[in-house]
Amino acid sequence: MNVLVLNCGSSSVKFQIIATDLEQIALNADKRLARGTIERIGGEAIVALSAEGQDPVRSTASLRDTRAAVELIIRWACSSDSGISQLNTIADIHAVGHRVVHGGERFAHSILITDEVLRWIEDCIDLAPLHNPTNIKGIQAAKEVFGAGLPQVAVFDTAFHQTLPDYAYLYALPYQLYRRYRVRRYGFHGTSHRYVAYRFRQLRNIARSDTNLITLHLGNGCSVAAIRAGDSIDTSMGLTPLEGLVMGTRSGDIDPAICDFIGGKEGLSPQEVETLLNKQSGLLGISGLTNDMRELLAEAEENNDRRARLAIEIFCYRARKYIGAYLAGVGGADAIVFTGGIGENSAEIRARICAGLNWLGLDLDDERNAMTSDGREGLITKDGSRLAAYVIPTDEELLIARDTVRCVHGVAQRY
Ligand code: ADP
Repeated sequence: MNVLVLNCGSSSVKFQIIATDLEQIALNADKRLARGTIERIGGEAIVALSAEGQDPVRSTASLRDTRAAVELIIRWACSSDSGISQLNTIADIHAVGHRVVHGGERFAHSILITDEVLRWIEDCIDLAPLHNPTNIKGIQAAKEVFGAGLPQVAVFDTAFHQTLPDYAYLYALPYQLYRRYRVRRYGFHGTSHRYVAYRFRQLRNIARSDTNLITLHLGNGCSVAAIRAGDSIDTSMGLTPLEGLVMGTRSGDIDPAICDFIGGKEGLSPQEVETLLNKQSGLLGISGLTNDMRELLAEAEENNDRRARLAIEIFCYRARKYIGAYLAGVGGADAIVFTGGIGENSAEIRARICAGLNWLGLDLDDERNAMTSDGREGLITKDGSRLAAYVIPTDEELLIARDTVRCVHGVAQRY
């Protein structure tokens, strides 16, 4: 099956086309055919499209909405321009898999989208007002482009964390707030944590039930997950993706009383305070310079900028604190895994997060750490290190394509 994987944002669409089926999944022989991004939809959009193994072709196009973007992707993919021999007409796309941010408590697995499922996803809008509506628009756009007959599957960021026990997902708030409004920890980046946990057990050749680890997804958004016997048992993001680690522009954990305090002092409404925590905090807020870790590292190195150094230090310290907490939560893990743009590429940040963890038995191998970036995967601790560390580039799209195939065939998904 050729699966179109869509990740629809408010003004962007990221996509991949992956050829896979049940046999290819079993053999780990899925084939990526194409990938690309379309940004600034609604005006003169910026388009980058590439067939596998080719450099991206960049262009601009006037695109009104998500539907126009999906049409452009399909027109390109099926044209001789793309050179993808498996795709000649729209009928060569056999299913669509969507990344959907919030599945609430209803979705612990991916699911074939029906009218009823779409209504349930709409019910979760309350919990993710920025994300779920744009994901729904993507589903509707694909339905318009491909027709109602083409199978579409929703893969939720929250689903992998539905195994959290109640003592980990409940906040210490009046219980009726959970009962009335489902206020609890949901966690996000689930497909990424799930992918690297899956890949880890492949690399180690171990069973799911023997998989005990801590996964750190460090990108613009950052989160940690504690995984015991293959299941997520705790994660740092909460009701929304604001809680937990320091992120590019998000604060992560703060004392909740700060909201009212700064609201009063600065004359900000609750919405403005939330915007401040989401958009003006984190690495950007501390440094006053940028949310981009690469630029911060350069600033710290070249100009010894004090606040750039501080932002990096707070980022790494918070991550290290969570590793400690989750090692206790798991009851002893075998490894920690780094992924996401920062986790995959920055040996320096990984080294700083791991600094001082030798007493736990984490013995970083500087050479392996330095060599593992740019999409490379592997062990970065010394052989025999009691707590191992790995870099595993994430591949959420692959899991979305595989879940899509499994849902279409009605077979159980492997988490
Ligand atoms: P998103 O969460 O939006 O998918 P990414 O996972 O691509 O983002 O991560 C983006 C972050 O990764 C940025 O802060 C960027 O600076 C950082 N990053 C990418 N490459 C490097 C690198 N070589 N060194 C340090 N940080 C890097």
